[in-house]
Order: sequence, then C-alpha cells, then structure tokens
Amino acid sequence: MRQERQDLAGDPIDVAAAALRNGELVILPTETVYGLAADAGDPRAVAAIFEAKGRPRFNPLIAHVADGGAAEEIALFDDRARALADAFWPGPLTLVVPVRDRRRVCDLARAGLDSVAVRVPGHVRAREVITEFGGPVVAPSANRSGRPSPTTFADAMEETGSAAASAVDGGPCAVGVESTVVSLIGGKVALLRPGSVTREEIEAVVGPLDHGGEGHRSPGRLTLHYAPDSPVRTDVKTARAGEILLGFGPGVGDPRWSLSPTGDLREAAANLFRLFREADREKPKGIAVAPIPTRGLGEAINDRLKRAAGHIG
Ligand code: AMP
Ligand code: MG
Repeated sequence: MRQERQDLAGDPIDVAAAALRNGELVILPTETVYGLAADAGDPRAVAAIFEAKGRPRFNPLIAHVADGGAAEEIALFDDRARALADAFWPGPLTLVVPVRDRRRVCDLARAGLDSVAVRVPGHVRAREVITEFGGPVVAPSANRSGRPSPTTFADAMEETGSAAASAVDGGPCAVGVESTVVSLIGGKVALLRPGSVTREEIEAVVGPLDHGGEGHRSPGRLTLHYAPDSPVRTDVKTARAGEILLGFGPGVGDPRWSLSPTGDLREAAANLFRLFREADREKPKGIAVAPIPTRGLGEAINDRLKRAAGHIG
C-alpha cells in the first residue's frame, strides 16, 4: 500500500489522471499552449474552469481526446472531417463537428451547442494523461480570460496554477499559438480561427474553404484577446520612446526582443506570447510589433496581434 502511494506520488501522469477523475483541474502541457484541463463530462469540473479563467460561459471548450477513434465516439465525422483528422492528428487542428455523445462532453463544455470542437493534441504528455484518464478532457488555455496564453510551465502556473490540483511540466510549447479551428457544420468547411495548420495546408486536403457566415460563427472570438497589460501597436517599423519593439527579421530592433532574428514564422509563433509576457514585466509605455508577413503561419500570428491590439471585432 505504502509502495503504491509512493509510485502514484512519483508519476505526474497518474496524479493528473486521478485529479481529473476526482473532478479537479489540471495544468496540462500541449504543443500549442498550456491548458487548464477537466473531465469534459463533469459539469461541476467544467464550471470550475470557466470560474478560474473568468471565461464567459457562451464560449465553448475544445474536447481533447487520445486518438481518432475516441473522437468518433463523441462526435460525428463525415469524409472531409476524417480526411482532416487523418492528415493533421495528432496535432494543432481542432474540428467543429456534430456532437454524438452529449454526456461525455457536457452541455456547459459545448455552451449548449449541438456541435463539439475536438482535437487530438500532438504533445505526448497530454495524450498520456488523457489515455490514463480514459475520456475526453476539456483544456482551454491556462490563462485568465483575455490574457496571452501561457507557453511555458512557469507562465501557466502563474496564471491559473492556484486553481489546479495537479500540474504536468511538458517544457516550452513548440507551436506557441492556439490550434487552428475548422468547422464542418452544415456541409461547409470554414476556418474559424487561424493557427499553425495553415489555410493552404487545409485546402490541400479538402479543397477551397467556404467563407464564414451564419452557422460558422465561433462564439469565443472576443474583441480584446491575447492581450498583455501594456498597449500593443502592430505593423511598426520604429518604436516610440518607452516602447519595447518586438522585431522580426534581421536588423529589426534589439535581438533580445526579436520574435525571430532570421524572419522564421514558426520561431516567431513559438516566441510571441512568451515575449509579450516578458516585455510586460518591464512595464514599458507600450509594446510595438514589427510587420509580420501574412502568408502561411503569418495569418495566425497577425490574427493574435490584431486582437492583442484590440483591432478586431
Ligand atoms: P480555446 O479553448 O480558448 O482555445 O478556444 C476554443 C475555440 O473554439 C473558441 O474560439 C471557441 O469559440 C471555439 N469553439 C469551441 N467549440 C465550438 C463550437 N461548437 N462551435 C464553434 N466554435 C467552437
Ligand atoms: Mg484561450
């Protein structure tokens, strides 16, 4: 008995899975950003996530599962959904599809919708916790609502660690921006949120994307989002007095504050939220960000920057 307890205490994956079974919250590493996780089928645990984040209850959560088979237990997949899952899972792509099992992803987690957002995370630690737990886990970013997502263990602990019964350190997040969200509701394929799986990569699998419109709204795309405390200005070539300039590409700004000195979009995405947080700690007059190309992963980076600056409704 004593030995068993010691083993349990020594393995963060087992401890995290036990906490989830207990209806408690867990800091979970994913390849996109750190998540604050709970049993998707437990309304009280899910309510505790909304509470800890200060997240509006109309904004539904993503159900994270261990593999495509587990995804099809909770949701209905058509051929195009399956093709996208086959192409990008495990990985940073979330699919919004009709819900099949309303019990295992409770109403509160879905914000009462008939659809469910589902993904298989690429981070092996995340999948280990989900597998050990044995069911879908909701895991929105571990920040308080509206703030930049945490991309390191320390940042996640600082944001919502006090609400979590257990925490798994998975190192710095490799991707650094939230998953791409694609809706397959109503026979259309629409991009609800750009991410590191790019528009071009999705179109290579399912053909041209449909434009948004009714039925393709993502309830969670709030105006001011991902925002540090300091005001953010985007597309800036030279900083004003007292501003920190986050550069991009050779020779732009102080290399200490560069999103990517070589102009690499993957590196810039991985650094974005961490540098927002580090810059904020210096209490500058503002954070200025150099122009970032809009192609490929640049679409997701520019999306987050515009929201941080309050430019999108
Ligand atoms: P987060 O958990 O903050 O990374 O955000 C999940 C994103 O997926 C938010 O933008 C949600 O609005 C969106 N989402 C989740 N479930 C659905 C759904 N059933 N329909 C449309 N968007 C959804
Ligand atoms: Mg978030």
